[in-house]
Amino acid sequence: MYPQDALKKWHSGQGLWKTVPKESWNKWSWQVNNSIKTLDELKTLINLTKEEEDGCKFSEEKLLMSITPYFFNLIDRDDPNCPIRKQVIPRSSERIIMPEEMLDPVGEEPHMPVQGLVHKYPDRVLFLVTSFCGSYCRYCTRSRLVSNAQNYDFHPAYEKAIAYIEKTPSIRDVLISGGDPLLLPDKKIGMLLKRLRSIPHVEFIRIGTRIPVFMPQRITPLLCQYFEENGPIWMSIHVNHPKECTLELKEACKKLLMASVVLGNQSVLLKEINDSVNTMRSLCHRLLQMGVKPYYIYQCDLITGSSHFRTDVQKGIDIISQLRGHTTGYAVPQLVIDAPGGGGKIPLNPETIHKITEKSIFLKNYQKEIYEYPLFAPQSPLKMVEPTCMKK
Ligand SMILES: *Cc1c(COP(=O)(O)O)cnc(C)c1O
Repeated sequence: MYPQDALKKWHSGQGLWKTVPKESWNKWSWQVNNSIKTLDELKTLINLTKEEEDGCKFSEEKLLMSITPYFFNLIDRDDPNCPIRKQVIPRSSERIIMPEEMLDPVGEEPHMPVQGLVHKYPDRVLFLVTSFCGSYCRYCTRSRLVSNAQNYDFHPAYEKAIAYIEKTPSIRDVLISGGDPLLLPDKKIGMLLKRLRSIPHVEFIRIGTRIPVFMPQRITPLLCQYFEENGPIWMSIHVNHPKECTLELKEACKKLLMASVVLGNQSVLLKEINDSVNTMRSLCHRLLQMGVKPYYIYQCDLITGSSHFRTDVQKGIDIISQLRGHTTGYAVPQLVIDAPGGGGKIPLNPETIHKITEKSIFLKNYQKEIYEYPLFAPQSPLKMVEPTCMKK
């Protein structure tokens, strides 16, 4: 559908909101305050299908709807199957609950020593600092607490969380996420980064956010200053489709890069949205052009009401095997399943080991050709030979 070079243009501009003054449009507070949150507002902007209309009603008790005007503009309003549309406009399929689906699909609740702090791996923690997002992804793995539609009553306890990190010297990596941490005011973000940076054993600080994608206007000079002062900050953004790679996002990434922020991307494999090699290749190529390393592709978590988004596991493996070796190594993300029940992220790789014999490993390359490599390292020093090239 979107072959390698089908998207010649990088989308940009105010689209439906042409008459809004540029200064307003470019303020992130304007994007927040004018986000589309109700069925009535949405209906004035787009012809909804019956499924979508019903989905919007149900969203109030599941995961609220919210779409920034900037992101809404990326929707092709004539196409009910638009890959952007399906990510943020609810559909009635969200009501369907499969037996294998769960409210806490990756098992976070049992690993929270403090509310909002998930300590699953010994050396790193996931620090959930808010339950709000710029827009709500309909396949959200944390929909139980995000947007507060399910009455989770989320109250991040910053002081308790920081105290826990301070007294746990095994934690060397703090991943700040949510909700979306970049919805917090600049000062609060600056304060959090400074506090974490002052803990001697915390050597790696990263932020998980989709705000640059939903609202590139959020990447302000003051925010970048806080990143730079406490850097290097590592950041995982969340782009799923090449259409999301706009000039505005590229510009936001450039500002982050200039502030020594190291950028990676996480995508979720979504049925009929990005589950084709052409779409994924085009996405990964565009990410590289923005200075973003494709980090993970997730098999869609078993979150309640997400069956319409889920692909067969083999689909992801096939996509990776058609990228690995066929394009720049940097462009190939790691496919993972975040294990149900709290086992953490587990990589899935196409088979590259053809066979192992007593002496050799036989490897399969990207063109399915077989190559032999000795299995064992040399056991005793080999006889020294003076390299002939060095002789005069
Ligand atoms: C994803 C995740 C991390 C970070 O995992 P990496 O593989 O290091 O990126 C840490 N803690 C939790 C709970 C996570 O879900």
